[in-house]
Amino acid sequence: MSDILIIEDEEKISRFVELELSHEGYGTGKASDGRSGLEEALSGKYDLIILDIMLPELSGIEVLRRLRRESNVPVILLTARDSVTDKVTGLDMGANDYITKPFAIEELLARIRVILRTQEAADEDKKSSSGVLEAGGIALNTESHLVTYQGEPVELTNREFILLRILLENRGTVMSREKLLSEAWGYDYYGETNIIDVYVRYIRQKTSDDVIRTIRGVGYMID
Ligand code: CA
Repeated sequence: MSDILIIEDEEKISRFVELELSHEGYGTGKASDGRSGLEEALSGKYDLIILDIMLPELSGIEVLRRLRRESNVPVILLTARDSVTDKVTGLDMGANDYITKPFAIEELLARIRVILRTQEAADEDKKSSSGVLEAGGIALNTESHLVTYQGEPVELTNREFILLRILLENRGTVMSREKLLSEAWGYDYYGETNIIDVYVRYIRQKTSDDVIRTIRGVGYMID
């Protein structure tokens, strides 16, 4: 379960929010001024920060500004009803959402769930798009863009790299020329699909004839 930090100097509010969060199963932490709040927020222990704007020591906006230099941890701001400037400044500075005091706890909980879900999905995306894809002696590192064939570095152009990555990501699936073209270069365009053949030929010349299989009348695949 996720851990949430509450930075709020009004003890009544922070205790109430903490209680509700623990009741929902979240881990919690509290800070009652901007300075210690920033320190806690930077500890890396938390998945989300609830940050009040009116704080002693450092304002919430200043905490957010300093936090964003080092961390992308999601932040929900607590703002006063009449302070439009704070909301706008806060969002500009990278707050993920804000909630106006006084708020219904259900609303805060709902916003927390939305942000944590979005964050999880983004983390999943990062995980699945990072790392090394391998097949038939080819290894392609999606982060460093390094490609090797049987351990030897291979120099691919950007387009060859993208094409090879798509084929590796879809290993075991026959990819039509049209699909490869639209996935690799993002356009739906028919008739010129033979440029895929050209790039596949280049990749084969630089690696081996055996890695990418031609599926007659359809396209290509990597087993
Ligand atoms: Ca306050």
